[in-house]
Amino acid sequence: MRLKTKLIHAGNESDPQTGAVTVPIYQVSTFKQDSIDSNKGYDYSRAGNPTRSAVERYIASIEDAKHGYAFASGLAALSAILMTFKAGDHFIVSNDVYGGTFRLLNQVFNRLDLTSTFVEATDIDDIKSNIRPNTKAIFIETPGNPLLKVIDIEKVSKLAKENDLRLVVDNTFLTPYWQNPLSLGADIVFHSATKYLSGHSDVLAGVIAVNDDQLAEEIGLVQKAVGAVLGPQDSYLLLRGMKTLGIRMEEHEQNTKRIVEYLDAHPKVKKVYYPGLASHPGHELSKKQSRGFGGVVSFEVEDQNQVDQILSKLQIFQLAVSLGAVESLISVPAKMTHATIPGDRQQELGISKALLRISVGIEDADDLIEDLDKALQ
Ligand SMILES: *Cc1c(COP(=O)(O)O)cnc(C)c1O
Repeated sequence: MRLKTKLIHAGNESDPQTGAVTVPIYQVSTFKQDSIDSNKGYDYSRAGNPTRSAVERYIASIEDAKHGYAFASGLAALSAILMTFKAGDHFIVSNDVYGGTFRLLNQVFNRLDLTSTFVEATDIDDIKSNIRPNTKAIFIETPGNPLLKVIDIEKVSKLAKENDLRLVVDNTFLTPYWQNPLSLGADIVFHSATKYLSGHSDVLAGVIAVNDDQLAEEIGLVQKAVGAVLGPQDSYLLLRGMKTLGIRMEEHEQNTKRIVEYLDAHPKVKKVYYPGLASHPGHELSKKQSRGFGGVVSFEVEDQNQVDQILSKLQIFQLAVSLGAVESLISVPAKMTHATIPGDRQQELGISKALLRISVGIEDADDLIEDLDKALQ
């Protein structure tokens, strides 16, 4: 089955009781057993729920993976991945990760003696030189956040295999519609499904896809044992959202292209960060490993004092964290999504206070450009 057909039908087994063509919300915690050692495939909703199972089959299908898992948030999914490791293990993590990922590693899992070294993962030598005897995995996010740096998934996966490390890729920004890290050699792919996968700013969710049976079992164990699972209502919303992933991603892409052209030519815009720009250092690599560039773009204005003025004039773009939904959002990474990263470290990473990040929605591009144009004046 091709992707566009999968997006409509994956995970969907028409309801055996009624023939309902969408997956019902099984709002239930426990399931009556036929006898003490026999049930109908479900016994308790932490271990499995039919609505959640549909999400799990769906994400496996669209990532071309054997196994899928759904969690209460992207960070709950990442936590489950981290819990498959043990105290003393070390990770190499790309610099340009989501602020919450940085916080989870640096303020929570470090206390369990799982340590991380943050590296410039666009430079394979920087990864290589930080591998220690106890290094067990490499975590990357590409394109990165908020500077949209592009990391070579295939190259990193080769290095990971040579050193017996797991490669984990956060595929939130491009989604399986544009990029499939497993087919490029990653071992685990995860998403904040809160973003493009659900697509409507109405649900928090996280998903994982893997091919390896052993790895799947380890993640499944953590999911059941820890229990940060996606509830049936949210599973339903996520399923409903994902059906339109393809047409939404196409629209985000078209609109973003127009906005990037506009911003790139604007005299008050100092720099635009978007892998679709031929001048972006990751442009060629991005074309090689992905089918699209996505709907997130960051840009820097001359002076941080202009930021408040711009934000106060915008009418369609809403000031909010998050991304990947139908409505356009704007944020200031240094003070919002990446505020948990200390100031000097932000500077090192190039996250300036004059940097704005937009998540381009699927409104009419002319309205979006007019909105930005008024604000930039
Ligand atoms: C939002 C986000 C996360 C965290 O996901 P939640 O659903 O908010 O827990 C992780 N990675 C990226 C790239 C994100 O944008």
